[in-house]
Amino acid sequence: MADAPLTLADLAQIDIANMKGVGDKRRAALVDFGIENVLDLLTTYPRRYVDRTNEAHVADLVEGVETMVLVKVRNVRRVPLRNRRSMVTATVFDDTGSLGLTFFNQPWRERQLKTDAEIAVFGKPETFRGKLQMTNPVVDIIGDKTGIIVPIYPQSEKVNLSTWEIAGWVRAALERAAPRTIGDPLPEAIRERFAMVGRNAAFNTIHFPESIVEKERARERLAFDELLRVQLVLVERKRRFERENIGIRHEVNGEMQQRFIAALPFALTGAQKRVIAEINADLATPIPMHRLLQGDVGSGKTVVAVAAMLAAVQGGHQGALMAPTEVLAEQHFAGIQRLLADLKVPDDGNLFGERQLRVELLTGRVTGEKRREVLADLAAGGVDIVVGTHALIQEGVGFASLGVVVIDEQHRFGVEQRAALRGKGEGAAKTTPDVLVMTATPIPRTAALTQYGDLEVSVLDELPPGRTPIDTISVVAPLEVEMMWTQVRRALDDGQQAFVVCPTIEESEKLEVAAAQDTYESLRKGELAKHKVGLLHGRMSSSEKDEVMNKFRARKFDALVSTTVIEVGVDVPNATCMVVLDADRFGIAQLHQLRGRVGRGSIASRCWLVRQDAAVGAERIDALVKSTDGFYLAEVDLLLRGEGTLMSTDQKGASDLKIASLRRDKDLIERAREVAFEIVDADPTLAKHRDLAREINLLLAREEKEFLTKD
Ligand code: ADP
Ligand code: MG
Repeated sequence: MADAPLTLADLAQIDIANMKGVGDKRRAALVDFGIENVLDLLTTYPRRYVDRTNEAHVADLVEGVETMVLVKVRNVRRVPLRNRRSMVTATVFDDTGSLGLTFFNQPWRERQLKTDAEIAVFGKPETFRGKLQMTNPVVDIIGDKTGIIVPIYPQSEKVNLSTWEIAGWVRAALERAAPRTIGDPLPEAIRERFAMVGRNAAFNTIHFPESIVEKERARERLAFDELLRVQLVLVERKRRFERENIGIRHEVNGEMQQRFIAALPFALTGAQKRVIAEINADLATPIPMHRLLQGDVGSGKTVVAVAAMLAAVQGGHQGALMAPTEVLAEQHFAGIQRLLADLKVPDDGNLFGERQLRVELLTGRVTGEKRREVLADLAAGGVDIVVGTHALIQEGVGFASLGVVVIDEQHRFGVEQRAALRGKGEGAAKTTPDVLVMTATPIPRTAALTQYGDLEVSVLDELPPGRTPIDTISVVAPLEVEMMWTQVRRALDDGQQAFVVCPTIEESEKLEVAAAQDTYESLRKGELAKHKVGLLHGRMSSSEKDEVMNKFRARKFDALVSTTVIEVGVDVPNATCMVVLDADRFGIAQLHQLRGRVGRGSIASRCWLVRQDAAVGAERIDALVKSTDGFYLAEVDLLLRGEGTLMSTDQKGASDLKIASLRRDKDLIERAREVAFEIVDADPTLAKHRDLAREINLLLAREEKEFLTKD
């Protein structure tokens, strides 16, 4: 077997210390950089390439046009400035001319830039005292380069590893692997169908390409491999779930759902109709539903959830809706009771064949006799729909026959908590309830496929008609701030209410609370001195928080100063003003969620995004000012932030992407998903695709417990 191709597992077993020139010190630096073995080394991909066939010369530089030039260094000088600031200047040159470089507050440049070093400089030339120069350009030390296209590896300021050192080790590793080559786990037929290059060639080319086109094809192959691994895990999990669980065939054509919809004071939106149909199709089959419903704030998810639960009730089963907080659970309970006020349930034991539908609430605050009654009737089947918090998944809560589970704001629950509620359905019949998880944070389709690929996904992409759109205003200058408070006061005088949100301070909850308290005090004494102001923050107990919220809802306060604890789901239709302080410290998704707290009533609402500095977060703020469409904003967010950052921590698949990009690789994601279904459906345990299975176990080690074949 000496000549068998190397697997990724083989490469992962070769410690980086085996590379020539890697002693204890270098090894420590490499490990700091995340490179412990040869696989880590080979998957440290260049972040850029310098194409020397195509390079610009200093004489070609045009003022204001970002360009890269390959140059040599001379005359490096450090110039002290006032306030312990410093400036480093250098002159660089090629055969055609010279260029000045100026670095502010990067004193280490003095050491980095050695006379005669070859560097690639990327920046925007400007004219200063009649001479071309660049300020704070991107600099890559190229050193003794060979080859026409020079790979530039990621650098870290902390760890002192040069890009040519990394290139050298990569080359040595590839040369040593060469006689055996790196094996390709992808079935030949699939590789051919998509005309993808082999893996061995891809690894060689990505590090040392001879042309940019060739490099792109290598990147495509390696990115596809990463995406395929993620999809195989998700698709296998999905298929296994479907195989191993038996669900209930719900009566989706029963009259309860129809009567409920007919009795609504409004017509369903097209999106609601479509999503209810998608859900009904799942409910009618014996495979348990596992579906994610994405819908912006106010898109009407509750009606959809209730329709799904009624399909269960129709057949004599129960529905349960779990929300992350008591306030939200109570809000849902009140709303659902209202929606279902006159609905009757078929009942054979009754002379008239019908009884009143029964909805109950179960939270930590339901105690004593009431709690015993609810628990007993849930277990006996007298309660049709229960709305609650984590209290629903506690021990001692049992259902006669739980048919449909709805989880609101699903990201606020852990995997285990969601599974626990599903587990409550396992009665004598051993059936698994149908599950609908809901989120008000829309994510782009590529991210959804990567993050939630084991679920079906439905989208409510249409708001009910007649909403008065929220006007969003960016506020920077002191005068604008004054105008804002004038307008807020006017709204409060008209009997409307306002939220004032202070940012979360990640490092310290104490600081955060202090900041909210300061704001509260200064508004009470200053801008809002004539109004009643409340305060809400994360250090309050949940009953204190609820008390404040209830007072606000009852209009005992005109304005509520709070930290982001109000982010999720709170419904106060009379609140028409949202002031977000230090808005530049929030992400797009969070600002969008906050804005969704207003605009719930008939009066036009406004959202002011107050910023310290017009330059910070300008693109984010502009996007919010321009649009209230959550799906559009999610796309912008992905574009601005790049990859990975969107991911929740409970499904890590996407954070393993080193070369694939959710932004660039939409088509590859679809392709990987298609191939994953093809492979898993033909070979459910990957018994005939051992190399792929091993690789997945290796690279997604955290999934190991759940995944597949072990050797
Ligand atoms: P969310 O998706 O944010 O949970 P809700 O389900 O709370 O949204 O619905 C927001 C509001 O819109 C509720 O007052 C609800 O009664 C109302 N609503 C839902 N669907 C429609 C519709 N098709 N037409 C008009 N109003 C609707
Ligand atoms: Mg909701």
